[in-house]
Amino acid sequence: MNDSKTATTDQAAQPAPRLIIDLAAIQRNYAALQRLAPSAQVGAVVKANAYGLGASRVVPTLADAGCRTFYVAHTAEGREAREALAGREADIFVFNGFWPSELDSLREARLFPVINDLHQLHQLRELAPDLPCAIHFDTGMNRLGLGPNGTQSLLDNPDWLAGLDVRQLMSHLACSHEAAHPLNARQLERFCAVRERFPDIPASFANSGGAMLDARYHFDILRPGLALYGGHPAHDCDDPFVPAVRVEAPVLQVRTIKAGDCAGYGAIFTADHEMRIVTVATGYADGLLRACGDGGFGRIGGVKVPIIGRISMDLTTVDLSAVTAPVAPGDWVSFLGEDIEPLARAAQTITYEFLVRLGLRFDRVYLPGAPAAQ
Ligand SMILES: *Cc1c(COP(=O)(O)O)cnc(C)c1O
Repeated sequence: MNDSKTATTDQAAQPAPRLIIDLAAIQRNYAALQRLAPSAQVGAVVKANAYGLGASRVVPTLADAGCRTFYVAHTAEGREAREALAGREADIFVFNGFWPSELDSLREARLFPVINDLHQLHQLRELAPDLPCAIHFDTGMNRLGLGPNGTQSLLDNPDWLAGLDVRQLMSHLACSHEAAHPLNARQLERFCAVRERFPDIPASFANSGGAMLDARYHFDILRPGLALYGGHPAHDCDDPFVPAVRVEAPVLQVRTIKAGDCAGYGAIFTADHEMRIVTVATGYADGLLRACGDGGFGRIGGVKVPIIGRISMDLTTVDLSAVTAPVAPGDWVSFLGEDIEPLARAAQTITYEFLVRLGLRFDRVYLPGAPAAQ
């Protein structure tokens, strides 16, 4: 049989994985966005529980960094963000539109709906003209917002906005991760045409990828999500964003396997030489996507340790071949961090999806950010 060691030496280690969320890194990313777009205000998209990192901690952290405008997808997320602000002033916009059934909730938490079609616009005029709002123009993504006909009708009837408290005009880029994509310029041109007609209303166009485009894309308020959380929004250039999240999981067992031995479910991995492997206490139940087993890796003391075999629900096996230092049960293996992009690629997905799937089972450890400047 294979050798194995059990955790007799390090009884202090908790045999559970933890998710380390670096709030100071999120603040550094916020400051980096501000440097990229010095003439704009930087807002923050905190939908989906701040991309899985925990809105109740991320929202006040960003407020400390100077953020005064937040965006969420759902009204319930907006309520959570409002609570997290604990009385600090900030505007919170709800992307998913104006739904009269939510009017009381919107008012109670002082949330501003983003108007996505003319029907919503007229309902708002009828039911709550005093409620601050944003208007979303779909300039080519064909996902959400006033399409070409709705936009034209509004431009033909600008008085529809009379008496409304429109705080932002917005649009969303479909291809901002690809600077040279021709749709970027086309969307910009269409958004500028709308903006010209309402020059006094602040405009918001750029998500994280848009922040990396030239200043014409920045307008008055940026709307980044991914970059704040350490993702890399542009596929074809470097960016200043630092990792904000990593997984640390303890080694449960170390073993040596021989050529011809296999590892894990389905026996899809077979060793072609004698090798040391370790079994780590994290798996797809924690959000370490099963698909990233093929090509994914963790790190021990900074050294890459490739994942071998299938990731299981609670366990992952890695190859220790590159590690010269001794490794024992209770030692930590880290995942994600600076490697989030290659791991997402190995799982054939994007950093966004990796982040929002990080599981609820983790012990979450928040490294503190800086308090607000006085
Ligand atoms: C999610 C979202 C964003 C943030 O995009 P990132 O690419 O994460 O920066 C901005 N605007 C809208 C409308 C969104 O849905």
